[in-house]
Amino acid sequence: MGIIQHLAGRFVRQHGGRVRVPRIIEREVRNHARPGGATEREQRKAAAATAIVAAFFLGKSRFPQPELSTEDLPTVERIMEALKNLPGGMNKTHGGEAELIALAAREQKATGTRQVLLSNDGGASVVAARYQIPTRHAADVLAEFACADPGLSPTECTALFRSACEISAPPVVSRPADDSAFTCSHANGLCGPCDNAE
Ligand SMILES: [Zn+2]
Repeated sequence: MGIIQHLAGRFVRQHGGRVRVPRIIEREVRNHARPGGATEREQRKAAAATAIVAAFFLGKSRFPQPELSTEDLPTVERIMEALKNLPGGMNKTHGGEAELIALAAREQKATGTRQVLLSNDGGASVVAARYQIPTRHAADVLAEFACADPGLSPTECTALFRSACEISAPPVVSRPADDSAFTCSHANGLCGPCDNAE
């Protein structure tokens, strides 16, 4: 979302009151926001992270930050283990994802309020699903923007998504095949992104 400043602002307006961002994720984003990358991709990543820091973590827009307690640690351990056991999972640390899933699972169990994980990480989505937590990735969020704003064309969304994928991408199998993913079908009856946004 940081690829274009107005998308981060749009996200805050559309979902602001419902978003929770644990400290470990803020730390990861702030680390990415450090300037001085050698390649163009690194510089774009730093610029995107900087836009997210400004929109999500400064001033009034600061999202609530749920914290783990010692009772949550066995769940975090179990989730880390599960993430490591996925194909290709051995090579990653998974700290942020494990904490996110544990916090969402705890909240869902305690309050009965449906939780949704926002992540491009395919492994995290597999493990979150075991806790009855669905995942939305970058294209899903863009599709919700397109539903809310007819001025945002499917072609524009596709271009934004391609550009975002250079920095962080969902697994190839979950990416939309064409523009139709960003076309609201609410007027014709059912629309996935519209239903998800509720
Ligand atoms: Zn729609």
